[in-house]
Amino acid sequence: MLVRVAIDLALDRFFTYGVPEELEKKLAVGQLLSVPFGHREARGFAMEIDRDGTAEPEGTADYKIRPIGGIADETPFFSHNLLRLVRSVAAYTASPVESVLKTALPAAVLKKNAKPQELLFVEPALSPEPVKLTKRQEWLYAQIARLGGGWMSQLCRELKTTPASLKQLGALGLVKVAVRAKRRDPLGNRRILPTRPLPLNDEQRMALETISLPSDPRPVLLFGVTGSGKTEVYLQAIARELEACRGAIVMVPEIALTPQTVQRFASRFGDRVAVLHSALSDGERYDEWHRIRSGEAQVVVGPRSAVWAPVRNLGLIVVDEEHESSYKQDETPRYHARDVAVLRGAVEGARVVLGSATPSLESWRNARTGKYALATMTKRAGAGTLPTVHLVDVSQLGGAIFSRELLDAISLRLKRHEQTILFLNRRGYSRQVVCEACGHVIECPDCSTPDRGLPYTYHRADSCLRCHVCGGWIPLPEKCPECGAARLTYQGIGTQRAEAALKTCFQEAHVLRMDADSTSRKNSHDDILGAFRRGEADVLIGTQMIAKGLDFPNVTLVGVLNADSSLSMPDFRAAERTFQLLAQVSGRAGRAELPGEVFIQTRNPDDGVLKAAAGADYVGFAAHELEERKLADYPPYCKLSVLNFKSKDLKTVGDWSCMYAASLRNYAARLQGKARLLVSEAMPSAVEKADGWYRWQIVLRASSNAVITGAWRWIVAARPAPSSLRVSLDIDALNLV
Ligand code: ADP
Ligand code: ZN
Repeated sequence: MLVRVAIDLALDRFFTYGVPEELEKKLAVGQLLSVPFGHREARGFAMEIDRDGTAEPEGTADYKIRPIGGIADETPFFSHNLLRLVRSVAAYTASPVESVLKTALPAAVLKKNAKPQELLFVEPALSPEPVKLTKRQEWLYAQIARLGGGWMSQLCRELKTTPASLKQLGALGLVKVAVRAKRRDPLGNRRILPTRPLPLNDEQRMALETISLPSDPRPVLLFGVTGSGKTEVYLQAIARELEACRGAIVMVPEIALTPQTVQRFASRFGDRVAVLHSALSDGERYDEWHRIRSGEAQVVVGPRSAVWAPVRNLGLIVVDEEHESSYKQDETPRYHARDVAVLRGAVEGARVVLGSATPSLESWRNARTGKYALATMTKRAGAGTLPTVHLVDVSQLGGAIFSRELLDAISLRLKRHEQTILFLNRRGYSRQVVCEACGHVIECPDCSTPDRGLPYTYHRADSCLRCHVCGGWIPLPEKCPECGAARLTYQGIGTQRAEAALKTCFQEAHVLRMDADSTSRKNSHDDILGAFRRGEADVLIGTQMIAKGLDFPNVTLVGVLNADSSLSMPDFRAAERTFQLLAQVSGRAGRAELPGEVFIQTRNPDDGVLKAAAGADYVGFAAHELEERKLADYPPYCKLSVLNFKSKDLKTVGDWSCMYAASLRNYAARLQGKARLLVSEAMPSAVEKADGWYRWQIVLRASSNAVITGAWRWIVAARPAPSSLRVSLDIDALNLV
């Protein structure tokens, strides 16, 4: 018997080992094994078992097969289905299987010293012998018997006693002190009040029926406006799965994975919910993952990585806010969790629901062509109504941050004690610092665009200049480093400046700011949102962090300070992103009884995308945008991936990317109608130099992904890059800049 093992090295191949007879019966694919590797012991996953040991091992004829050292854990880490999924994703993203295995498993689970938390537990003995006790001991024993036992440390705290005293009771045979595994519960310190299913409205009921239709295995696109009650539909769809003894995965974007979201699931399903997200401790993550694998938890709520959760008998995968770009991993393997969810659904026979108020055009087209089923919810479910949206022309405003209209609206909210959210897509104080005397812009030395340097952003709180690309910073100089004049001015608006300006306009207003700077501390994210929810502030100013998923009943006004910055990005998805962003931000207003109003400030009030967003006309926008994509030959009408080149040396990047582009164009010509492959010129990225690295790219478009990965395999073999150059393939790239 032979076993092929994926070893924890970035090698795109498996290694063959023999299996000692005594392990043959126990061995299963997906298990973690220890194997000899060179002169050391390595760990790896059993990928394939060859029961007869007939298949040729790789390598040379004198390749000597060594036996595995042992099975580290008999319960497989990956089921057959998950292994199949891992291998498809590896093939699709042209990345090593082993890198996908690594992504699919939380590092906390594989750490050498990872284990359950074991603590001392004190339990009253069943039938203790009568013994002579002190008054104090009698009391202690009575308390422990009343409580039915407890963790040693907790009892010591609550009964104001010591471990020694409790152990003494143990020695007297009154209590049993033993080691027990104690779950590290990420929701342990939160009070979770149970909720019951809400009676659904007609649209919700139809959606739920579409999702649970047994005869139709297609993924369902749940297109529901913000507040239409998609979450309630998910909850009831999950409840149906649980009744049928099947499990479910709910994916939400990391940024929306607030306690509020998690709570909605925990309130309905209690301990059957496991949470996976980046803020968990290693211990919590270890325990949650094992609760999923053992079947103790059947519902998993988490970000992108939750798509790999080892849920048993998976019946349903929900991808909420399916258009969110955070579902795409931006390092190897560059998978898109929404697409992996669809794949996993097919592999495991599980239903997949993609929910959004502004679906990605990829999913929308799949729904239009019938590849996906479509369920639509057009009305807000609770008390709320959709907000009124105004486009405000600020082209005549000069440098002012707030239009008259917006100021009046804020002022009205302050009078009525309602809340306002203001959105601005740039953190810091000012976009750049410029010398009034010589016009010099202070720039980061390590970053630049193809035709100019990259200005530092001024951060007033700590009085320094920061580069938002590389994170580098310098103290704010007093004089212009170029001409020495003390006439530095701040141009452009960031959240800090908007906050300051607002406080000047409304001195009595309480303002909170939420951006990457104000949330760098652990929990600060929750703290700010908690304070806003409790009504401790009138206005919340923030970056895209505040655009999504938040549900504050008292918010009746949303202002978008500058809608144009997102629209002007040099990316074919700029219109789609802008529409989504505006729709999401607008969705924050009027979530409850109070009607909402939205002001979008722009210099292009006649822009079609902005008008569609203001009219909340997704269908119209999507129809128009799909038409444009079709004409220009862009996704979803083709597959698009980006070849990224990176080097410290500009000439290396330029020369090699141009050479790759030429070679790939020859390759494409040789395909001769068998497949279509369009290869762009090699060109510098929008931020050409980032943190000292020069970056160029080639855009590849093709009728299928296989054509692109085929071209990639060919070029890396035909033109191996020098070590001073890094080339990577971003499959289904979301960002072209
Ligand atoms: P979405 O996820 O589509 O943005 P939510 O699920 O957050 O919408 O629902 C918005 C609000 O409507 C929530 O406060 C929710 O409790 C409420 N809601 C949802 N469904 C119903 C219903 N059937 N009846 C009454 N209220 C509902
Ligand atoms: Zn920089």
